[in-house]
Amino acid sequence: MGVARTPLIAGNWKMNLDHLQSIAFVQKLAWALRDAKHSFSDVEVAVFPPFTDLRSVQTLIAADKLELGHGAQDLSVHDSGAYTGEISGAFLSALACRYVIIGHSERRQYHHESDEVVAQKTVAALRHGLVPVVCVGETAEDLEAHGPSAVPVAQLQVVLDAISVDADVVVAYEPVWAIGSGQAATPEQAQQVCAALRAAIAEKLGEDAAARTRILYGGSVKSGNIAGFMNQKDVDGALVGGASLDVDEFSAIARFRQHVGTV
Ligand code: PEP
Repeated sequence: MGVARTPLIAGNWKMNLDHLQSIAFVQKLAWALRDAKHSFSDVEVAVFPPFTDLRSVQTLIAADKLELGHGAQDLSVHDSGAYTGEISGAFLSALACRYVIIGHSERRQYHHESDEVVAQKTVAALRHGLVPVVCVGETAEDLEAHGPSAVPVAQLQVVLDAISVDADVVVAYEPVWAIGSGQAATPEQAQQVCAALRAAIAEKLGEDAAARTRILYGGSVKSGNIAGFMNQKDVDGALVGGASLDVDEFSAIARFRQHVGTV
């Protein structure tokens, strides 16, 4: 029998919402999901606010015993020391973060994060008990030159070389051309690459690791297209950017089970 992977709907807020706005947003999201009788044990929901919001979000979640998870958008490869502006995984753990996004294409593009840095950050996250959400994905030029799977698989290989068989990681396949463009991959394209990523995990870490690792799709996910992705065998959730800043949209995405079967 296959391993049941609990779907994860993850909202990457990027550099949006300050700490006061984050409190209002998380309250509204929690109410919307509660009113819809959302089952968090069936579909996990997590938000990824800017660093400066994390304490407020953590406090609200703890005080109101909300079932939402929270995580950060990046971390340092270092644990402490003279690294101005960097944030240690230890600090994120202390704020009860469960997850941390690593290697988002915006970090790779604007901060020149290499596959090796992404691997080091993944190891740093695991060292502090955080679950890394490792982002991989090809640009439009990569797609043209190498086809859909080669670049994301090669990016993931570098991370897989650095972690142990029992590491708890989430992989997010995010084609760069689909991020923020309104032009999502098709469910079949997402499935093809997610299957290739799972095969790479199986080859490097074994079938058990491949069967339990959640692989998300990200790139212009909306309430209107989530069902198509979640109908795919190797897609275990979504990393959502723009639509995660709209309570109604994001909660509708989290309740994708109500639309699965309707596509
Ligand atoms: C993202 O940046 O991770 C993302 C998927 O963005 P969007 O949903 O806006 O395409």
